[in-house]
Amino acid sequence: MSSDEFRKQGKLMIDWIAYYYDDIAKHPVLSQVSPGEIKNQLPEAAPTDGESMAQIMSDVNSIIMPGITHWQSPNFFAYFPANTSGPSILGDLLSSGLGVQGMLWATSPACTELETRVLDWLANMLQLPEKFKSNTDGGGVIQDTASSAALSAVLAARERKTNYQTNESGSLGNLVAYVSSQTHSSVEKAVKIAGIGKNNLRLIGVDENLAMRADILETAIQKDLQDGLVPFFVCSTVGTTSTNAMDPLPEIGKICEKYDLWMHIDAAMSGTAAICPEYRYILDGVEFADSFSFNPHKWMFTNFDCNCFFVADRSSLIKTLSILPEYLKNQATESGAVFDYRDWHIQLGRRFRSLKLWFVIRHYGINGLRYHIQEHIRLARLFAGWIRSSADFELVAPAPLNLICFAHKNGNDFNRKLLETINRRGKMYFTHTLINGQFVLRMSIAQTNTQIGHVSQAWKTIQETASELSEKE
Ligand SMILES: *Cc1c(COP(=O)(O)O)cnc(C)c1O
Repeated sequence: MSSDEFRKQGKLMIDWIAYYYDDIAKHPVLSQVSPGEIKNQLPEAAPTDGESMAQIMSDVNSIIMPGITHWQSPNFFAYFPANTSGPSILGDLLSSGLGVQGMLWATSPACTELETRVLDWLANMLQLPEKFKSNTDGGGVIQDTASSAALSAVLAARERKTNYQTNESGSLGNLVAYVSSQTHSSVEKAVKIAGIGKNNLRLIGVDENLAMRADILETAIQKDLQDGLVPFFVCSTVGTTSTNAMDPLPEIGKICEKYDLWMHIDAAMSGTAAICPEYRYILDGVEFADSFSFNPHKWMFTNFDCNCFFVADRSSLIKTLSILPEYLKNQATESGAVFDYRDWHIQLGRRFRSLKLWFVIRHYGINGLRYHIQEHIRLARLFAGWIRSSADFELVAPAPLNLICFAHKNGNDFNRKLLETINRRGKMYFTHTLINGQFVLRMSIAQTNTQIGHVSQAWKTIQETASELSEKE
């Protein structure tokens, strides 16, 4: 593609995206296609000769778009957010344009040094303890997802506990990891991948708010020690995926300290709220943690993928994951004066992801970010208030931040039907969870452009559809 053609098509593409956002609320939020419908419209073989961008974009409009679920719609209230923003999209575009592979400091110094700086900014914004900053023994790194961050944490914890011998001998001791019954499935996956084995993963019970019970955790650790096993890792969650439950970090932290376990904190979505002083309390106890991770790609207006993973002792991570084949040797690495982030995560190659994060933080400023987070939480509280004062619906879990778990009083089948009917009609999209056998509706309010009108319209839609279905019964 010539430079002139690229310039022309690039401008068209930016226009296309801008128009998409202007009109996004006109699409049904949940894609309405059936399985195979998109694939069947695509040729079985790749084109022999090149095609024009006009042809390609025409297929985007007619074939691809009907198969899109509109995560960036202000009426998207499903799962968790994956919100984005203009500055993030532009930063990501610039990263694609530069096409940098930042595996080593030497392969693009700015890619490493901007990342270090931006993660230190974030550590300050979240008021993380000094130990997580790069001028101490710790530091932060951008990972693709919270899942990869959890896996890195489990691996470093495993190596620390076995004196960095498991990597050498490949044989595991009787290591045991602890999570709650509400912990994200990615941690179970990490424990499996790390060779710990599912049988050595304890699912600790939760209290009435679905937060991990520290007393049960301690009892489990004591029992495992008595049985000759080796407790090594706890994952505590700030804002569980299902209901936004908050594990008691200080209590868990003290237990980890007492029994020498690696404490990882998964704050994938909710961590962002801690940049607001009034919500910083959710991280009280983070001073006990060995590692902490949150996803700007969920609630901080930054395109997927972007997870920020902080460790208190980077040497444990680097000793676990460092590999130095001859062809990667270079003076900067040997001098020890630089970070080579390939040693901080699973994969070797890495994109220049800090650019989009830097764009976002500079565009909004800390105050702008706080404003949007506070606004989402304000809307969530309004919505929770409407549920509380409704005769037909009830709140099913505490709603500390931006996620509301609620249910119609007519029971599971009714709630399921309500959810399916609303999502099929496409005006809004929300999803469910199961709490102690109860089918619960979830409203996750965190899309960048969601405003009061969208939330009140959603509530109206929910109420009207519920009345309609009640009448039919
Ligand atoms: C979403 C979520 C994850 C998984 O995030 P990925 O970045 O997709 O791996 C993990 N933990 C919690 C609490 C989450 O909400």
